[in-house]
Amino acid sequence: EATKPSNFLRQIIEADLANGTYAARQWAGSPGDAAHHAAGLPDPAKIRTRFPPEPNGYLHIGHAKSICLNFGLARDYGGVCHLRFDDTNPEKEDTEYVNAIIDTVKWLGFDWNGAADAAPYQASDYFDFMYRAAEYLVTAGHAYVDEQTVEQIRINRGDFGKPGVDSPFRSRTPAENLAIFREMRDGQHEDGSMVLRAKIDMASPNINMRDPAIYRIRRATHHHTGDKWCIYPMYTFAHPIEDALEQITHSICTLEFEDQRPFYDWLLARLCEGGLLASPPPHQYEFARLNLTYVVTSKRKLAQLVYDHKVSGWDDPRMPTIVGLRRRGYTPEALNLFAERIGVTKSDSWIDYSTLEGCLRETLDHSAPRAMAVLDPVKLVLTNWNSVMGAGQLDACSAPVHPHLPELGKRQFNIGKEVWIERGDYEETPPKGFFRLFPGNKVRLKYGHVISCTGAVKDADGRVTEVHAELIPDTKSGTPGADAVKVKGVITWVAVADGLPAEVRMYDRLFIDAQPDAGGKDFIESLNPNSLKVVQAIVEPSLAAAKADDKFQFERHGYFVADRVDHVQGTKLVFNLAVGLKDSWGK
Ligand code: ATP
Ligand code: MG
Ligand code: MG
Repeated sequence: EATKPSNFLRQIIEADLANGTYAARQWAGSPGDAAHHAAGLPDPAKIRTRFPPEPNGYLHIGHAKSICLNFGLARDYGGVCHLRFDDTNPEKEDTEYVNAIIDTVKWLGFDWNGAADAAPYQASDYFDFMYRAAEYLVTAGHAYVDEQTVEQIRINRGDFGKPGVDSPFRSRTPAENLAIFREMRDGQHEDGSMVLRAKIDMASPNINMRDPAIYRIRRATHHHTGDKWCIYPMYTFAHPIEDALEQITHSICTLEFEDQRPFYDWLLARLCEGGLLASPPPHQYEFARLNLTYVVTSKRKLAQLVYDHKVSGWDDPRMPTIVGLRRRGYTPEALNLFAERIGVTKSDSWIDYSTLEGCLRETLDHSAPRAMAVLDPVKLVLTNWNSVMGAGQLDACSAPVHPHLPELGKRQFNIGKEVWIERGDYEETPPKGFFRLFPGNKVRLKYGHVISCTGAVKDADGRVTEVHAELIPDTKSGTPGADAVKVKGVITWVAVADGLPAEVRMYDRLFIDAQPDAGGKDFIESLNPNSLKVVQAIVEPSLAAAKADDKFQFERHGYFVADRVDHVQGTKLVFNLAVGLKDSWGK
């Protein structure tokens, strides 16, 4: 494999490996706590990263960037990446999402703990430890129970440039705090009546350090721990602890968490001091999230598209969800290539959608079998067929499955008196530079013969119903003398005798605006009204064997995938446009 371009994360990891930063990590906790740690004894020479989705929706292309980054770094440096469900928020989570996320990560080609069937990590497994960590902070004077209302807490927290105001409950003794915190745990207080806060610095220039809440009361059934808890840790408290318990070395997140890093460090330093965690603790690094043009990636907005029936579901081929991209024909190879190509940086920027499409086109070009399909069929009649070839005769043609992969063999199909061609391949009066069918012009039927157009039959409305041409004998592709008649145009076609009907879904971008939700715009208003056009096509007979999810290049048209949901092999052919042959959008 070619050497990957370096980036700031690779440089940090290489330096840590060279300096043995994590090799000397000392576990100071009790043997009971050790059980919480990453399965087995961590190899201190290894780096550990993690991908920590919240199981509250389907993953999208932005998550793919994070997955490829975290799992890719672990793979490249002989380390491990943990798939961890950040399931500390009981109300919003669901096992449907858990399973979909597991599938997606595996599909992208990654495993965790060296085996894709190993159980992923889940934050809720650490609730007992988190509770003990919170009691430790209380006992050590680093946390207190605050009975101010949510509103009072917000106001007293102050604003940038204006210090916060101490809570009247801030001076409670550790013993008082411990007693009340235990009452919170035991269900003796109402939801929302009090929170546990870290005691740090109400005058800190960083608002996140002004005594952030770390535990709240919430009577909610958790999809994993059921009704065991009525208090739940806040994300900002839980996340660093999850990282530390799993002995993550490099905790990589998006830039918006940069302001949280001081609390991340503060919390882990306190717990290391208290002997609850190993030292040195993990370190957080931030990178720029993916912003992709013509796409929205907020889970809330994607959910709105689904629930308002703007798309057919989370896996609609126009969705930037990974299940949607997969149904559109995207491959793990294409998404990994995309992640590599866009790289990682520390400043936000926009990636053009065509970069993503380019990765798909490039990977499919290497692998996808070719086929002929007529997407807007009109019948072409070879009027001299009976005298040249014989009435009722068919002539066998063949073509390579892939022009550069001879080992894939040949596809077979027939030509007969009648073939389907693209309506747009005939013009009664040809515009300048048009080399296809018009009266008096010769073209080659690709892999077949040269024909000479004689005219067309039209209906009362002037619409062409049949194009007429004569076959020129001894011009069949691959036969001696085939090139004796020179033509400027080659067209694709499918014989009426063996063509198969297929539904083809021609997808376009879901939005017409490059930044549909920038600056608070209503993204629904920039939905592209023409993002789906369904056509009844005729395809060559080799496609009877196409299985759901198989990808093809329909010659001249682009790359298509047999729909994972609706296509039935040999019976009901349904293809989705994955990406065109060239980047022609907007032209
Ligand atoms: P959303 O904001 O859409 O709800 P999220 O960021 O809350 O998404 P999580 O499930 O918490 O979703 O994300 C899991 C991981 O994926 C996080 O580490 C997050 O940083 C990363 N991630 C999410 N969106 C992007 C993106 N656009 N680019 C890169 N990484 C992302
Ligand atoms: Mg999140
Ligand atoms: Mg988010």
